[in-house]
Amino acid sequence: MPNPSQNNFTERDKKVIWHPFTQHHIEPNSIAITRGEGAYLYDEDGNKYIDAIASWWVNLHGHSNTYMAEKVYEQALKLEQVIFAGFTHEPAIRLAERLLSHLPSNFQKVFYSDNGSTAVEVGVKMALQFFHNQGQIKRRKIIALTDAYHGDTFGAMSLGAPSAFNAPFQDMLFEVEFIPNPNQALECLNDLETKLKDSDEYAAIIFEPLIQGAGGMNMYPAETLDQIISMAKKHGLLCISDEIMTGFGRTGKWFAMDYLQQKPDILCLSKGLTGGMMAMGVTVCSDPLFESFLSSDRKKTLFHSHSFTANPLACAAANASLDLMEKTETWSQIAAIQESHAAWKNKLQNHPVIRNIRCWGTIVACEIDTPEKDGYLNPIRGKAYDHFIKKGILLRPLGNTLYILPPYCIKPSELTTIYLEIEEFANQIN
Ligand SMILES: *Cc1c(COP(=O)(O)O)cnc(C)c1O
Repeated sequence: MPNPSQNNFTERDKKVIWHPFTQHHIEPNSIAITRGEGAYLYDEDGNKYIDAIASWWVNLHGHSNTYMAEKVYEQALKLEQVIFAGFTHEPAIRLAERLLSHLPSNFQKVFYSDNGSTAVEVGVKMALQFFHNQGQIKRRKIIALTDAYHGDTFGAMSLGAPSAFNAPFQDMLFEVEFIPNPNQALECLNDLETKLKDSDEYAAIIFEPLIQGAGGMNMYPAETLDQIISMAKKHGLLCISDEIMTGFGRTGKWFAMDYLQQKPDILCLSKGLTGGMMAMGVTVCSDPLFESFLSSDRKKTLFHSHSFTANPLACAAANASLDLMEKTETWSQIAAIQESHAAWKNKLQNHPVIRNIRCWGTIVACEIDTPEKDGYLNPIRGKAYDHFIKKGILLRPLGNTLYILPPYCIKPSELTTIYLEIEEFANQIN
């Protein structure tokens, strides 16, 4: 075997690759991962890292899961890809049937796309065209939440709270009204009520239910979201729920909306949809919404597609992931992570520099106290990231917000290792 380092991946990468969300001037070197197994990633030098953020929130059942890999392989030998307009296939049908069986009964049609941002784009287009098709041309505006994140394409960026992410494009984004963070329930609901009273031009409201991810792992009560949804529905708005991060057991239930009394009208899923193995998104809606596009007039069609819509390999990965999600063993793992996080939260209640520790399901988050302002550009972020990488843990703090969002196969001892390293990091800056 040649020494893998002789491949010189890091140097070769630097010559030819532009990485996402990466300031190459400050972070020139990328770690070359050669394989993954369970909760671990292995680099070319044989170092291993616990994947404490499920590789950007996508991985559910561990890396290179054998069962899932075999299902995708079998599918690749049968049918790898086919145009999805005018044609269909069993993996897509079965996946849609199975997804719907886990959702409230108002969800009846599944639209496939490629990733989270596209699932959001489709959701917003469905909502706007729903009114357009019925001649309700006044309803064009969208409401979103402060601190929201819905993706990086232009439509999705418009729906995100103004931030460092979308600042260079602010003047090009379509107008969206932001209401206060639902953590300030009173302000949020009052502002929403005022907006809805003052204008009949709103088409939809979009939200990340219960946990706002990229905006800093903000958690807010289900009752507040129930109130937001009922108020929006009373005024005829469609409610778009972005469960791209919260779906598939992340919150301790199948979906975040399983904690709600009120049900949204449009649902966006991606990330954990394929267990993190393939890129895919779906947007799910009701039959009445679907029927508003039925017409002998072709102009009422939802003209949206991607080349790889409902790719059979991605559908096979998602079906395999659902096989695992439907096992009681997976739910025991989820419950164990939840209990473990809750116990750690109790332990850290009065820590001198770890503040506002909170958890929901398999996610735990906290802020590290620093003299600088809270937020994505807080300088502790780089120090923390490097510290944990050196200790063999992949954590990717959002500024001074640290969070753990692990694959469900993570072991209690691995969680303990992560907790202790976070405490040690906090103690050392104290
Ligand atoms: C990640 C994410 C998206 C965007 O998904 P991509 O697949 O990265 O385009 C949208 N909404 C939420 C809540 C997310 O966490």
